[in-house]
Amino acid sequence: MRHIEEKISVPVKGKCDVLVAGGGIAGISAALAAARQGRDVLLIENEFGLGGLATLGLVTIYLPICDGEGHQVIFGIGEELLRLSIKYGAEDLYPKAWLEGGTIKEKKAKRFRVRYNANQFILEAEKLLLDAGVRILYGTRICAANMSDSRISDIIIENKSGRSAIEVGTVVDCTGDADVARFACAETETFGQGNVLAAWYYHLTGGKKGLNMLGFSDIPDEEKKQGAASSTPLVSRRFSGLDGEELSEQMQLSHAHTLADFKKRYEKNSDAEISMIASIPQIRMTRRIVGDATLDTSDDKKYFEDSIGMTGNWRKCGPIYEIPFGVIKSVNISNLLAAGRCISVTDAMWDITRVIPTCAVTGEAAGIAAAMFDDFNKADIASLQAELRKNGVKLHTGEVL
Ligand SMILES: Cc1cc2nc3c(=O)[nH]c(=O)nc-3n(C[C@H](O)[C@H](O)[C@H](O)COP(=O)(O)OP(=O)(O)OC[C@H]3O[C@@H](n4cnc5c(N)ncnc54)[C@H](O)[C@@H]3O)c2cc1C
Repeated sequence: MRHIEEKISVPVKGKCDVLVAGGGIAGISAALAAARQGRDVLLIENEFGLGGLATLGLVTIYLPICDGEGHQVIFGIGEELLRLSIKYGAEDLYPKAWLEGGTIKEKKAKRFRVRYNANQFILEAEKLLLDAGVRILYGTRICAANMSDSRISDIIIENKSGRSAIEVGTVVDCTGDADVARFACAETETFGQGNVLAAWYYHLTGGKKGLNMLGFSDIPDEEKKQGAASSTPLVSRRFSGLDGEELSEQMQLSHAHTLADFKKRYEKNSDAEISMIASIPQIRMTRRIVGDATLDTSDDKKYFEDSIGMTGNWRKCGPIYEIPFGVIKSVNISNLLAAGRCISVTDAMWDITRVIPTCAVTGEAAGIAAAMFDDFNKADIASLQAELRKNGVKLHTGEVL
């Protein structure tokens, strides 16, 4: 392949205490948490709206913040965003028992999850961040990191103004794909199995709104071998989510499947119309950081002294996982944390922690830590935990069972 050398010098256009890379659920949570600590926070987002997959990707089911046995396990910003998402009413799955003081039996019967309106959530999330003092830069892609020893000193961005640099104190990688980690030459791992094709879209049929979930779920290979429910691949191909050309192809295939599905609907009901399609690729697991710790499904109810919050398992009732600080901390870059779907977990665990509520948990903890410390190798975990507790976060299984 022919290579050309690109030599450009870029102006340093600004600086911030905490740079949050990506404005999905993890980025919203990290930016909010860091700003509430009184730091100058800059959130960089490639698209022109917040929420990532949870809004622009039309994945509008806020999966459970409980363990399925009647115990809430996610608090703090994870709960705050769930409530915000249904500020004007739930689209579906209203969790009455949880929001209106139901019995434990009722809470066991219906998990604490909701379906929400993506557009309202985009607008409310943006207002929440602006009110907290977060600076948001939309339409801007992070494309490189400038290093000073094992620290990121500047983040290189590109937008309509061209390329420029931002001088940073700490960085939280909420890109979903550990893009910043890769640019900083942090250790990363990729999801070898790849992703099935997904094509979720909204339609109006007979005056009723519906969400069509083509490619509803995907199960890691190793669990399939153990006889778990099989996935519903639309095509046998899998997508890494990390290749520009492949992503374009994935989007085109997703559009073609949406159109084919809609045509069937239209043939049965000529008043049917598509009301919304996703504007970003619906990809679940791509690349993650290698952290000081790596969470696995075998860690159910395991006590971690450095826990930063908990998550249940959206796929089954019972498990509770404490999330150690080590899973958000890069092993080799001292001012870099990750949050959301690119934290350090095994392939089997990835499908559990990548979901909306868990992304909020790791986002909140990463945002607070990024505001409090400038070298995460020297982070005082007890004071981080004290800040999390002030926000109502519960850290250990024993506090909810
Ligand atoms: C088909 C499908 C179905 C799903 N179903 C559910 C479900 O029912 N319920 C549930 O809870 N979860 C579900 N999920 C998972 C969940 O939606 C996501 O994993 C979660 O929302 C990820 O949040 P995040 O903030 O980590 O990442 P993302 O939502 O991916 O956000 C990352 C953000 O960073 C931005 N970005 C990326 N790279 C850069 C860059 N280099 N520079 C600047 N900006 C960048 C992106 O534009 C994006 O806004 C599903 C996912 C898929 C794909």
